[in-house]
Amino acid sequence: MTTKTDVVIIGAGAAGLMCAAEAAKRKRTVILIEHTEKAGKKILISGGGRCNFTNKNASHVNFISDNPHFCKSALSRYTPDDFISLVEKHNIYYHEKKDGQLFCNKNSAQIVDMLLIECRESGAEVITDCNVQSVNKNGSFELETTTKGVFKCESLVIATGGLSIPKIGATDFGYRTAKQFGIKHTDIRPGLVPLLFKNEFTEAFGQLSGVSVDSVVTYGKTGFRENILFTHRGLSGPAILQISSYCRNNETISVNLLPEFNFYEKLKTDSGSKSLLVNYLSGYLPNRFAQVFCEKYLPLKYVNQLSEKEAKEISDKLHNWKLIVEGSEGFSKAEVTCGGIDTNELSSKTMESKKVKGLYFIGEVTDVTGWLGGFNFQWAWASGYAAGQYA
Ligand SMILES: Cc1cc2nc3c(=O)[nH]c(=O)nc-3n(C[C@H](O)[C@H](O)[C@H](O)COP(=O)(O)OP(=O)(O)OC[C@H]3O[C@@H](n4cnc5c(N)ncnc54)[C@H](O)[C@@H]3O)c2cc1C
Repeated sequence: MTTKTDVVIIGAGAAGLMCAAEAAKRKRTVILIEHTEKAGKKILISGGGRCNFTNKNASHVNFISDNPHFCKSALSRYTPDDFISLVEKHNIYYHEKKDGQLFCNKNSAQIVDMLLIECRESGAEVITDCNVQSVNKNGSFELETTTKGVFKCESLVIATGGLSIPKIGATDFGYRTAKQFGIKHTDIRPGLVPLLFKNEFTEAFGQLSGVSVDSVVTYGKTGFRENILFTHRGLSGPAILQISSYCRNNETISVNLLPEFNFYEKLKTDSGSKSLLVNYLSGYLPNRFAQVFCEKYLPLKYVNQLSEKEAKEISDKLHNWKLIVEGSEGFSKAEVTCGGIDTNELSSKTMESKKVKGLYFIGEVTDVTGWLGGFNFQWAWASGYAAGQYA
């Protein structure tokens, strides 16, 4: 059986669903193919089940890419306000958690339902449980599938996402298809992911699993002020997830454990204190953490016994705790994939390949990675919308 259609989109995630509805609104015949049994699985698990569907303050500075300007055009043509209008049109109630992060009041399924309704009303057909076995281009694209025969289409949109969370459907289909057509992709690695450090770190700090500390975590010139969270194996928490998208293995990150004030000045002011350093530090940091940190790095002394040099060293250790990244928890725990289809290969206006007419790449499969906080979905909506106007 051969079905002819204007547009085939592969991957019914955030970007694919948005693109399908938009292309169908232009009266294009659209088929959206998903290999799992359900559309939008990642949306369902996102934001702790409440989907942080956008960030009101999103701009190109919140995205990482070898070409940081690429995302500007699509982001400006489909803004957080546009998505908020869509959410409001569907009577989905939401709230701002912090820093512009918008979440559903009820659950993430509302966002998937909304996108499926948009697809249905505009006439896009969503096919699940269907695998694409081969893609060929002979004028039009020809796709051989496992359950629905052959599709012939003028435009082919790849919206298969990145490699994170393979157990809910992630595949390397997008990168393989790019390679088949001679389109480059940048290095792929896990992003927004818990980090692991040298063995001695786990020995000392693994016992603190569950403890969190408000910190500034810095890599090079990039820093994030949020919590860090100790795990059995390393560090997680928003500040670590954010910095994980920037740093690589064997590179050093710096943690400022006391970002509110200068600890050296505090020690100087309290230089007459008869408190043990560990007890003194417990006044500013979680008790368990202060104990382990002191045991590992600091002298067993009373505050009034500290020399100026010691006070400076202690302060430096707390404000500039250097950790060498040994690895990460990998794609099974990563929220996103950093890197992707080289944006130099794509039109920033349409998301179409510059080399292969009619072939588009949208969403996370591209080399555009958002920060934690609703930015990755905003990229999925904006790039999906952009391709939807042209595919
Ligand atoms: C646990 C978790 C929580 C997250 N929370 C948030 C959040 O709150 N806010 C936010 O902005 N971002 C969040 N993200 C990131 C966000 O989910 C992704 O960036 C976004 O879903 C990317 O959209 P996409 O459409 O490009 O890819 P996806 O949504 O991953 O969709 C890709 C689709 O393609 C399908 N597919 C893959 N291979 C094939 C194939 N060969 N054939 C057919 N179909 C295929 C997949 O099954 C999937 O349905 C979270 C991610 C995770 C893992």
